[in-house]
This record gives sequence, structure tokens and C-alpha cells, in this order.
Amino acid sequence: MSAASHTETAPAALDTTRGLNVMVVGVGGQGVLMISKALALIGQRQGLQVKQSEVHGMAKRGGVVFSHVRFGAEVWSPTIARGEADVLIALEWAEGLRWLEFLRPQTGVFIADTRRIVPPFACRSRRHGAPMAYARETPAEVLDKVGEGYALDATAIARGLGESRAANTVLLGVLSASMDVSAADWLAVLETLAPPKSRAINLKAFEAGRAWADAARGDPSLSFDAGFDTHVTQADLPDVSVRHTINAAWCKGCDICVKLCPERCLALNEHQVAYLKAPQACTGCHVCEWLCPDFAIDVQTTLGT
Ligand code: SF4
Ligand code: SF4
Repeated sequence: MSAASHTETAPAALDTTRGLNVMVVGVGGQGVLMISKALALIGQRQGLQVKQSEVHGMAKRGGVVFSHVRFGAEVWSPTIARGEADVLIALEWAEGLRWLEFLRPQTGVFIADTRRIVPPFACRSRRHGAPMAYARETPAEVLDKVGEGYALDATAIARGLGESRAANTVLLGVLSASMDVSAADWLAVLETLAPPKSRAINLKAFEAGRAWADAARGDPSLSFDAGFDTHVTQADLPDVSVRHTINAAWCKGCDICVKLCPERCLALNEHQVAYLKAPQACTGCHVCEWLCPDFAIDVQTTLGT
């Protein structure tokens, strides 16, 4: 049950001195690693032992990224087992749901951006406005399963401040409201991590997240984004720019990529070498890259156009 939705008083702050296990999840380019570095520094500033591990092999391709941060008097393993995360921070809604089982039942704190980054594979129908195969749980349903939960449109808050990439710092501000760490420690860590030119916006984003969480902790009805719509359509697909390269010297013309491209945008030329016939139709799904037996294709995607 959501403590935030069933108590009149604000939930107690997490006792950092006893140690903490925090998972941070999202997709490449969202700033997962900045949050985990900030938490590692916070742990160190409390005089605790810190261990951190991360997976970010697909980070530059919009792939899944996650990080475990553990701190305490003594920490042996850098990874968090299922059901043992005190906090799960999700920078993308469906990613948060995917890792929910890692959160401590009854007591875990779930903090999620309701922003959706819908993968091309979720698009089963190309009809305009067709629904997508994407997580359909509402924030209210999810928050009811966790000890304490907050779901907000952190990206919109950050965009309103002038920099949508500061959504991760908004979420850090939300987390700070649930931890017994001094404001001075948080500010020192932000000043260490944020480059000088984005320091001011990061401080504003942190304060905005903190203010949002303070309000939500005082009024449970504010702890989830009431405007969140579970019906996902093509309009929710993020703007992605794709760089698709075929190494002609390595292509042996097997035709696999041509046959299996879901968008039918590849073909073989007169030399039996694959080429991108319809670049405007390419979604950057990576299928051709993964299936080419000769590693002749390189697909790079970046969020934003
Ligand atoms: S990445 Fe490859 S398989 Fe996917 S749409 Fe583009 S060309 Fe087709
Ligand atoms: S799968 Fe690879 S080798 Fe086969 S046609 Fe495509 S690029 Fe060439």
C-alpha cells in the first residue's frame, strides 16, 4: 500500500546512517549515471562505505541503462538483490515497472518520471493513432503496490525551467525529500557534479523536484501525475535521429537484412550489396544490425532530431 496515499502525515525520512540500496533505471542519454554518482557522493559524505555498479553498454543507442548504489557501514556486494532496493528511481515509466520487483515490499520508495520513451518494437500497427504494446498500468495502480511512491512529469518540470535534460536532477530533488541528508550536502554534491555552465539550471531543477516532493508528502493526492494517460500512440514516440551505415566491403549480399527489416527500407543494389533504399522510413530499430552475420551494418540512434 502506498504510505503516501494512506497517511495524513508525511512519511518518515529514510535513515541514511543505517545504509541504503538505491537502483536507478532509464534509457541511454537520460542521466542515470549522474544520479548514481550523486548518491555515491552523498553516501561518502555521510562517512559510509559506498559500492556502485552500472550497465550502460547501450547508453549511446537509447538502450536500457541501470545502476545500483549501495552505502552502509560495511558493503560487500555492489549489486542489489530482488526485493532489497530501498529506493527505485526510474527516468522512464515502463523501465520503472520492469524493475519494480527489486523494490523492498511494503517499505520501498518508488520515484518515477512519467515520461515515456516507447521503443519502435512497441508499434505493432502502423495505422495513425494505433495503440502501442507498452506498459498500461496507471501511476495510481503502481503506487498502490509500493511502500511510498511518487510519479511526476519530471521532464515537463525541467522543460519549464528551460532544460528538459535536467529531469534527472528534478528526480534527485524528489528523492532528497525522502532522505535525512542536509541541504548543504546535496548542494555540495550538485556543485561537484554539474558543469559550471549548467550548474544554475541543475540547482533550480533540484529545488523544483524537492518542492514538488514536499507538497506531495504533505498531500498524498499530489503524489502521482493525475494527467498521465495509459493509452500510448505514435504521438508518444520520441524524436530520434538515426545514422545508418553499411560497410559495403563486408556485405556479402545474403539478403537477410532486406527480408527482415520491419519497415522494408533496405534493398540490394546491382552489385548485390545492401543499401538503405528508404532512409525516411528507418526507425533505427537495430534489427538489421543485430541480424547481419557479417557485422556490416551500424545503426546509431540519438534522442532528439
Ligand atoms: S534499423 Fe535497419 S531494420 Fe530497423 S528500420 Fe532501419 S533499416 Fe530497417
Ligand atoms: S545482412 Fe549483412 S551481409 Fe547480408 S545483405 Fe544485409 S548487410 Fe549484407
